[in-house]
Amino acid sequence: MDTIYFDHAATTPVDSEVLEKMIPYFREGFGNADSPHAFGRKAMNAVDFARDKVAELLHAKPNEIYFTSGGTEADNWAMLSGAYAMREQGRDRVILSSIEHHAVLAAAEKLEKEGFSVTRLPVNENGEVTAEALSAEIDEKTGLVAVMAANNETGVLQPVETLCKIAKDFGALFFTDAVQYAPYMPIDVKALGADMLSLSSHKFYGPKGCGVLYIRSGVKAKGLVVGGEQERGLRGGTTNVPAVVGLAVALEKNTLEMQRNNEKIRALRELFLREISTLDGVTVNGDTDKCLPSVLNVRFKGVNNADFVYNMDLRGVCLAAGSACASASIKPSHVLLAMGLNETQAKESVRFSFGKDNTEEEILRGAALTKETVERLRGL
Ligand code: PLP
Repeated sequence: MDTIYFDHAATTPVDSEVLEKMIPYFREGFGNADSPHAFGRKAMNAVDFARDKVAELLHAKPNEIYFTSGGTEADNWAMLSGAYAMREQGRDRVILSSIEHHAVLAAAEKLEKEGFSVTRLPVNENGEVTAEALSAEIDEKTGLVAVMAANNETGVLQPVETLCKIAKDFGALFFTDAVQYAPYMPIDVKALGADMLSLSSHKFYGPKGCGVLYIRSGVKAKGLVVGGEQERGLRGGTTNVPAVVGLAVALEKNTLEMQRNNEKIRALRELFLREISTLDGVTVNGDTDKCLPSVLNVRFKGVNNADFVYNMDLRGVCLAAGSACASASIKPSHVLLAMGLNETQAKESVRFSFGKDNTEEEILRGAALTKETVERLRGL
């Protein structure tokens, strides 16, 4: 029996069409995009084409798109660069949600050590940052507000348009981490009004190690990676041409197929939830109506999540006890604690995340193995 993959929020496989478009840039198109000769020009043309395509898909301008080594770098860049730029205007306060990815949380801790005043916003029991929570904290000293568009552990969507408006009214920059949002929801940076937005290619069937930071023109961005003039002098380092090409192809394909894939994935999630709901003591964390179609964060009362994930893996089903980067740690999820769960409840929670290639047969088999595993672990 094939292993079942229910961990698409951690990463997705590279789509075969995407891979095909990347391969020539490992072979005959291997040039350094900054070389002033035919090989360099060919590589640079591919990067320019990818930048134009990404800009078009996000409703941005090509000179607002910066390629990075992934979501983590884009998040670090937005947080640090945004905060440093605004400090020059006398604004040394940063507000972020308490459920951000560690790439944002760790950047905020660094800023705090450097003397910035950092405020972490609470969430309600559904895992949402509310307009009231931001309004209660924001002031004229606030330079940067960061709230993710969708949470990576619960899939819960955040009211970023409203939060962005509040930030703008106070003259602060607004950054949103759209790494989990982008694979399932169309993005229009103009309509959203955000100053910065991050994406990561491997969440939408593109290659790992490649991401985007959108920086609205007019925002005085500072570079973090020095030593080269790439990305208009703001991000040094030889451009990863095959990955950039792959990211753009993946984003386009994902956008074109989004609606159909979302319908399929949502139906699979609903089927899975119906199947496992015959167990006692099953609670969904977060409101699945205000959530990405792919994620199901669920608590099995009395079952330790690390034991569950280990036993499911032995039975050929792959899922996560939280976010991938933190899943080796035994700490309870900061996201679930922020939603009001206690430590035991957080450690009884797991994340299933479904994808476009999952089948109904996998859902039924995965649900049956889930029920067996929960019952066996409860009986021990
Ligand atoms: N932000 C969120 C919300 C994520 O889920 C992730 C990855 O899991 C990242 C940032 C980091 O992206 P990357 O893996 O490309 O560094």
